[in-house]
Amino acid sequence: MAKKYDLVIVGGGPAGLAAAKFAGENGLKTALLERKTDITKIRRVDGGILSPINEYTFSQTVIYNPQLKKICFPASGFSIRYDGPHRNVYGFAIYSPGGKKFTFGDRAYQKQDPDKRRAGVTLDKELILKALLEDAQTNGVDIFAGTNVTNVEKKGDVVFVTAGDEQFQSLFVIAADGVNSRISRILGMNKERKFFATHNEMLWYLEDLDIPEVEGICFIFTMDGSFFVSSSLHKGQYHVGVTTHRPSDDLNAKLEKFVYEDKVYSPWFKGAKKTGTGCCVVNMHAPVKDPFKDNVLIVSDAAWLMEVSNAIAIVCGWKAAHAVTLALLDGKINREGLSSYLEWWEKYFYEPYGEMDFKPIELQDFFDGDDLDYLVGLVKEPRISTSDFYKLIGTIGNTYGELFPVISEERPDVMAKLMGILDKMEEAEAASRKAGFPNK
Ligand SMILES: Cc1cc2nc3c(=O)[nH]c(=O)nc-3n(C[C@H](O)[C@H](O)[C@H](O)COP(=O)(O)OP(=O)(O)OC[C@H]3O[C@@H](n4cnc5c(N)ncnc54)[C@H](O)[C@@H]3O)c2cc1C
Repeated sequence: MAKKYDLVIVGGGPAGLAAAKFAGENGLKTALLERKTDITKIRRVDGGILSPINEYTFSQTVIYNPQLKKICFPASGFSIRYDGPHRNVYGFAIYSPGGKKFTFGDRAYQKQDPDKRRAGVTLDKELILKALLEDAQTNGVDIFAGTNVTNVEKKGDVVFVTAGDEQFQSLFVIAADGVNSRISRILGMNKERKFFATHNEMLWYLEDLDIPEVEGICFIFTMDGSFFVSSSLHKGQYHVGVTTHRPSDDLNAKLEKFVYEDKVYSPWFKGAKKTGTGCCVVNMHAPVKDPFKDNVLIVSDAAWLMEVSNAIAIVCGWKAAHAVTLALLDGKINREGLSSYLEWWEKYFYEPYGEMDFKPIELQDFFDGDDLDYLVGLVKEPRISTSDFYKLIGTIGNTYGELFPVISEERPDVMAKLMGILDKMEEAEAASRKAGFPNK
């Protein structure tokens, strides 16, 4: 016998838990199904950076209020609890193989008024999830941990959700099952999405580093790979990671070389203590244009190219819960009932970014170390302060677009290589697609 609900939510990440909290608050009979047995334990890599602060992303901005112990979402008009430590984040920095650097945000200026000029804060994500879970339970939501959803099927007016030998039924389902969403695949949505690449990341957690102040995320390009270093919540602790679109790359070997042997960067890590490792794999599909099918609403990362961010995930969950509530109140158990979510998604997510073409290129395939030092060293002034990856990529594109005349004059060889990227883009894309694991 299937357990009967108004709403079943699949996935207990920030999106699913936020949806559960607010659906419960609205009085919906709600079940949340999560495959992990310990819902709030972070198994997947996450920097815990809360953004966008002091800027807008997808029309949203976040305020962290430590006095009231709240994270506020003023553009949407709600808040959630957070009772834990925090650390300011000031933005990105780009480093070349030889140690040239440019930053996003002027640190000296930002630090004169950190609250107004920071780009984000690092928080303890497990505590955010814990507060959302507690609120969902207080609001009467039934939580099914250790419940791995294997099928979703609409029969008549009802959606049946299967997890092993358990079955649930409801009028609507919110699928918040993350970036490699099984539900979007089951519903056949991935067939219409362009597959770009399989993105792999490995991370080491290191302590006691002798490192220039990071206070954000540093992207470091060496001739051995593309790395990142970000400070964690606690002083002296860092995430040091490597990314690739080539599943055959040995990420651990790359990190070993970077941390222990790289002439420029290994001094940062001398004597550092490794306290753990993490990894993640993302099958990158183009965002879902229409995230509704068979009374299932696909939300947040599950409908996006890659991870959208914790704050935006929470807003997606909040918005989805309210949309389902209104649909049930209005007796519109269909697409029309969820129009408030679908129009919002179209306007703020799909329209501005949905058709952007992702180019999975590796800079090291096109430039040598000397070229990269030259290019990074050309940018003398800090760029805008941001924690938004779309703004990061857009700003890098515009910055080098403006520098084309200088590069043409000073280094015609580098200019020719830059132009060569355009010619080889199709080839690079095809190679990444071929090497990846599309879960159609
Ligand atoms: C390396 C890395 C670093 C990041 N750092 C940051 C950061 O610093 N700041 C930030 O804001 N964001 C960061 N993100 C992004 C952030 O982690 C995500 O955007 C956010 O977690 C998305 O929330 P979600 O609820 O949509 O999905 P998820 O958090 O992925 O949650 C999905 C949930 O669904 C569950 N699930 C999946 N399949 C099933 C199934 N079949 N049945 C039942 N349950 C299922 C999963 O176990 C999981 O709990 C990072 C991401 C990565 C990869």
